[in-house]
Amino acid sequence: MSVDEQYQIHLQQLKHKSPGFVETIYALGNGHLGVRASNPLQGNSPAYPGTPGLLVNGFYDLSPIQYGEAYFGYAHNNQTICELPDPRYLIFSVDGVRSDQTAYQVEMIDKTWDMASGLLLETFHVTMPTAKKFALTMESFASQADRHLYVVRYDVRALNFSGPLTIIKQHDYVDQQIPRGAEDVRRAQRGNTLIQTYLPSTAPTMQFSTQKSQLGLLMTMEYLGSDPRVQLNAHANVPNYEIQLELTPDRSAQFTFGYSLGEIHNLLAFKLNQTHYIDKSLARLKNRTFSDLFTASAARTQQFWQDSDVIIEGDPILQKGIRFNLYHLYQAAGRDHRTDIPAKGLTGSGYEGHYFWDTEMYMLPFFIYTQPKIAKALLSYRYATLGAAGQRAREMAIKSGALFPWRTINGEEASAYFPAGTAQVHINADIAYATDQYIRATNDTDFLISAGFELILETARFWLAYGNYGEHGPQAGHFVINRVTGPDEYTALIDNNYYTNRMAQHNMRLAVKYAVKLQQLAPDKLTELAVTDEEIANFKQAAADMYLPYDEKHQIKLQDDNALNRPRFDIENEPAANFPLLLHYHPLVLYRYQVNKQADTLMSDFLFPLDQDQAQLRRDYNYYEGITTHDSSLSRAIFSILANRIDDSKKAQAYFMDTALTDLTDLQGNSEDGIHAANMGGSWLSLVYGFAGMHFGMEGLTFAPQLPASWFRLSFKIKYRNRQLDVDINQETARFILLSGAPLTIYCQQQACDLSQDMPVTVPLKNA
Ligand code: BGC
Repeated sequence: MSVDEQYQIHLQQLKHKSPGFVETIYALGNGHLGVRASNPLQGNSPAYPGTPGLLVNGFYDLSPIQYGEAYFGYAHNNQTICELPDPRYLIFSVDGVRSDQTAYQVEMIDKTWDMASGLLLETFHVTMPTAKKFALTMESFASQADRHLYVVRYDVRALNFSGPLTIIKQHDYVDQQIPRGAEDVRRAQRGNTLIQTYLPSTAPTMQFSTQKSQLGLLMTMEYLGSDPRVQLNAHANVPNYEIQLELTPDRSAQFTFGYSLGEIHNLLAFKLNQTHYIDKSLARLKNRTFSDLFTASAARTQQFWQDSDVIIEGDPILQKGIRFNLYHLYQAAGRDHRTDIPAKGLTGSGYEGHYFWDTEMYMLPFFIYTQPKIAKALLSYRYATLGAAGQRAREMAIKSGALFPWRTINGEEASAYFPAGTAQVHINADIAYATDQYIRATNDTDFLISAGFELILETARFWLAYGNYGEHGPQAGHFVINRVTGPDEYTALIDNNYYTNRMAQHNMRLAVKYAVKLQQLAPDKLTELAVTDEEIANFKQAAADMYLPYDEKHQIKLQDDNALNRPRFDIENEPAANFPLLLHYHPLVLYRYQVNKQADTLMSDFLFPLDQDQAQLRRDYNYYEGITTHDSSLSRAIFSILANRIDDSKKAQAYFMDTALTDLTDLQGNSEDGIHAANMGGSWLSLVYGFAGMHFGMEGLTFAPQLPASWFRLSFKIKYRNRQLDVDINQETARFILLSGAPLTIYCQQQACDLSQDMPVTVPLKNA
């Protein structure tokens, strides 16, 4: 296999080829915009199968949540990402028959996504009702150099005729159609009603405006070339380009269009300075060509791979699968400090474009260690929404601190089902945990002072107010946190969820640690945030007194106070067709059983490896594995990592394979709604924290590698405190090279390795 080939996803190699699935797999994006790889003739016509769409990160509309019984404090509004018209869209007209009025037959011949450069190359064969046939080839990319740009080059060639063919490039509809799947809560539940206005400009420039959120977005479509056959109809009702071609089988016609998608703006601000916005939109495409825009984008993509690539030798399919996951993560992550990573990336409308804990706990480590600038941008988004989180805490009768929403775009809670939504208050501690990881891995004290400490402090304040001291039974004298839902969404509104309590304890300890640090670094910040000695003492005390439920009889950590009093759900004998259980059982049925959707208590064992010895971890693992369905794609990565820690390499590999190939093999059966971004982050976690055994403890970075027997090599790079480190593991040795930065000591299988630039240190592996 050539090196190039290892970065390519070929249509022929995919098991499934249903339109929705393929659209997701080949979706292009750059953190700002995402374009599904759909049939370019579809537009909003229901005559073609498929779900095309353009998504812009953070561009959403509001609609009031309609409750049958609306209790106080329930989330008020749905936030739904808008599906904008597909920029790939073309209308063909031959012999007076238009493809938007009469369905042409469109056959997908080939697709190759070259992730090394970011270019998507596609060929379709299109047959008209008159049996005339032509080939349509498309090359497209979402620019990584300028996140406002999407560029597509078309090539049209007749296959069995000579004669005229007209192509119209216009966007005469506003909303892209959305599949509404009320029967599956994971799908988008509602559409939007956008308003589209064409603005005076030298190229078709439209503003999309939302009705309730009062947001606007400019999209300019510009022909990039000088072929006189491409005519701009600027004064038409819907400004468009028309291309009149005389086709013959031996000559093809090529034309390129660039799309400029602006920043999301406030509609009022736009009114005041419309010309400025339009000029900016046009300037991005002025005098540009496919090749200069592509060269700039490909150079950025190459840089991405230089820092973030992972090499696995011994399993070519897996190697591709991992690259596919990493590139999709890159495509999904907001970089503008105002947006996050939607659970489905920018590849589909599943979960309505919402951000969850998925970012902090599953995806952020990849960015912290390979693209720290993006990690900072993502945490900055949380900081930008801290005010809304404070208000939410007040609404929840919490006098101080902040409560982050379970799912959101604009920072307000958008979960209409609080038992599996707002009740997952662990999101607070997740954000604090991730903030600390970022600060420690980068030494970014500026961020600590300007935003990080406040995130940690306000989330810690929440715990002091939400929890209380127990007075009865084993909880007496302990700090308890009641009525919460942990990560496992098949168990809700419980008391003392182990994961939540352990994370809250950590959150409060972080507040203490950083308050002490700021006394030296920025004492004014402490005054500004009204931090008192008494508050710090309270954090310390509550953390020390935190109740962590444990069952002495089975010697396992308990998911919650009452976990073992529920009967076990018979997972073994449940028909396979009934999974995921959430689509077949009322939540209250599931809540009465010991059955887990995903790693919960084990998530704590994963994050705090020093909390337990091997024997404890084994007992926890065995018990929780027995009651877990992995109905959430967030589950298997954690099981893979822990299987490694208990030296069960077979299981580690099996769980990992499912994780790595979840979307490429449509493991969950719903990749058509978008990628499973958290799971993709999880595959990186499994490699780095699992097989390479990386841990970021008090002493710094440590490694405990163990590769599956069939792999020859695992290699990746890590950025750490202004350094870059190359890690290269095979069956016998682990080799570390400090590529840049000051000397550093790391540990591999408890052996100290003193690294200085370009002096490789090789450690023989004990179990080799
Ligand atoms: C999982 C959550 C996750 C959400 C979005 C749910 O199925 O249970 O943990 O945050 O999906 O990915």
